[in-house]
Amino acid sequence: MSTSEFFLIDRYFAARELRRPDVVLGIGDDCALLLPPVDQHLAVTLDTLVAGVHFFADADPEGIGHKALAVNLSDLAAMGATPAWITLALTLSEADAGWLDRFCRGLFGLADRYAVQLVGGDTTHGPTTVITLQAHGFVPPGSALRRDGAKPGDGIYVTGTPGDAGLALAAAFGTAMIAEEYQAYVRGRLERPEPRITEGAALRGIASAAIDISDGLAQDLGHILERSAVGARLEVDRLPLSPALVASLDRDTAMMTALAGGDDYELCFTVPPERASQLDSVAATWDCRRTRVGVIEPEPGLRLIRADGSAFPLERLGYDHFG
Ligand code: ADP
Ligand code: MG
Repeated sequence: MSTSEFFLIDRYFAARELRRPDVVLGIGDDCALLLPPVDQHLAVTLDTLVAGVHFFADADPEGIGHKALAVNLSDLAAMGATPAWITLALTLSEADAGWLDRFCRGLFGLADRYAVQLVGGDTTHGPTTVITLQAHGFVPPGSALRRDGAKPGDGIYVTGTPGDAGLALAAAFGTAMIAEEYQAYVRGRLERPEPRITEGAALRGIASAAIDISDGLAQDLGHILERSAVGARLEVDRLPLSPALVASLDRDTAMMTALAGGDDYELCFTVPPERASQLDSVAATWDCRRTRVGVIEPEPGLRLIRADGSAFPLERLGYDHFG
């Protein structure tokens, strides 16, 4: 590793104010030394963003920094875990001080809000920018929100308004037009997703299963159904569509985007009927809405149903990198 890389680490990553008491030794040695709480499970997750694949190479670096962390915190949220530490592997095609400044502003802006400390990483040079971020959090034993706990009769819920990020992507690819008044909102939903950390933690002991929506609601709900060996009936007219989505697309395309758009980072979760009132009381303090969109059924498969009882056709379930 070259001197300039040491300089980069010192300047951008080591000299941070946030110091968690459970970090015995942070950035600067061969390893970080951490003090996980003895009575909690450690939840660990990792996501990679590749320039040109997961973000446009010329995208706002502040948004990239935010999103690299947000997608990881979203996985912790979907598990009901409280975030604590992150590590960062950064491959840069060039050491651009302006880019790094802005990347760090986005990354640490979000990290500081959740008291998440960067404790180590690796910095290398490569042909294209690749950002790999690992997040570590805590969850009480037995209370993690897994994908395999949904049972027939459980309600299916979703946070926020899925489809907005899909709309932003459609606009970027020229297949949708967004009115001026909605453009900043829609772009924010794609570039600055808000991880549902508070909501995920509040669902411990209430939700029977949960997942975060990264590849589209229909596809990600499908993972819960598969792992729980159940099926579902999803009432498409109950989908919470944002005013921006409703204004930008015809109704069927809007519903399709909410079902299969991807990149939403909302939570999809199931709640047994006897705990529905508990959900109502915890959700009363949330910043985002939560909407019941369907019910778990014994027969395998996902049935998309309109209000009149007819089937809603969906050509593509969601995003698949190798599809
Ligand atoms: P080593 O040669 O032992 O792998 P490095 O020289 O790669 O160590 O890194 C020196 C220190 O800086 C280590 O503590 C490492 O965790 C930290 N570090 C390197 N890159 C980053 C980064 N992108 N973010 C946070 N910490 C980093
Ligand atoms: Mg190293």
